[in-house]
Amino acid sequence: MSNLQDHVVIVTGSTSGIGKGLARYLHTQGCQVVLNGLGKPDEIKRLQSEMKAAYHAADMTKPDEIADLIATVKRDYGRVDGLVNNAGVQHVAPVDRFETEAWDKVIAINLSACFHAIKAVVPVMRAQGRGRIVSIASAHGLVASPFKSAYVAAKHGLLGLSKSVALEVAEDNITVNTICPGYVKTPLVEGQITAQAEARNLDEETVMRDIILAAQPTKRFVEIDEIGGMLAYLLSDAGASVNGAALSIDGGWTAK
Ligand code: NAD
Repeated sequence: MSNLQDHVVIVTGSTSGIGKGLARYLHTQGCQVVLNGLGKPDEIKRLQSEMKAAYHAADMTKPDEIADLIATVKRDYGRVDGLVNNAGVQHVAPVDRFETEAWDKVIAINLSACFHAIKAVVPVMRAQGRGRIVSIASAHGLVASPFKSAYVAAKHGLLGLSKSVALEVAEDNITVNTICPGYVKTPLVEGQITAQAEARNLDEETVMRDIILAAQPTKRFVEIDEIGGMLAYLLSDAGASVNGAALSIDGGWTAK
């Protein structure tokens, strides 16, 4: 039996990609997962029944809805053992043509939403005497790529936010960490593969190897369960002294 048995863990943006995979991983570890994210009602119901999970529809651009997500879980379960800030979006454009609305949206979902969720969950975790906050940042929290100014700024900001809060809660048996994955093959990245293939008139295989995975020395995508293993460790008692850390899982990308 895993030591995460019956831990109540919220995973934002868990209707797709990494968040969905992480929620599944935590379900297999015995967690009571709370799902969140956009999607078709039927598909969300299917995920709920598969993982015996609750679902909250908070829009991560809306501070009030984020606060309600945390308050609802606390009310329904009596506790929040883990918060996984995962919801995220990407927008790729040169800075002088980067639409202001796109900048605002990326910063709102990838950075400000994490602040609002952390702000709401810290008092709950303090009162219960234990808590784990893990945010899914990116290799782009540590290094940059061109044309991703909002995403890179948000992910670098997320590392700073996490480190700052980690210091504030260090004596409260709460840890705050970020996981920095390299490329994972999800709808967010598949969209970029298609766009790059069209823009550069290349086939998708060439784009994957020579452009997307150019920075990733292993030349393969990171598997979601590899991130799941790291997440489960951070959520567990074994991870109690890992605090304020940015943990890379990028096949060596940021070692260069
Ligand atoms: P994805 O597009 O497959 O999933 C994104 C999730 O966020 C979905 O569930 C979506 O519904 C949710 N979401 C988007 N806008 C929302 C909103 N306003 N309110 C609530 N939910 C919202 O993307 P993914 O690749 O699984 O990315 C998940 C996280 O991992 C992101 O933070 C991303 O930056 C990060 N990440 C991804 C990669 C990668 O290669 N895919 C690498 C490093 C980090």
